[in-house]
Amino acid sequence: MNKISRRTFVATSLAVPFSALLPGSAIAGDMPMLEITDPTAVALGYIAETENEAQRCDNCQLYQGAEGDESGGCAIFPGKAVGANAWCKSWVVKAG
Ligand code: SF4
Repeated sequence: MNKISRRTFVATSLAVPFSALLPGSAIAGDMPMLEITDPTAVALGYIAETENEAQRCDNCQLYQGAEGDESGGCAIFPGKAVGANAWCKSWVVKAG
């Protein structure tokens, strides 16, 4: 079994980003909401609230929020949060 020095352990521990320790929803809570005027949002027809219950961000495969969250991250819009009841043309049915 390999032994690691205390110095190596401390250096490695400090290298782990703090955000990696947080649940996805906590990270999303710190992200600014995606603006509907964002060029990519406009290109993808993003709307902040859809009335189509069958296709919403919270049932999209690319949504990163937890169940019940009002917003969450999206793989298409890194660093921005999208509304749970929003929608865009990249909607993909959630697996499972
Ligand atoms: S890809 Fe579009 S529909 Fe899916 S979570 Fe992102 S913004 Fe919402």
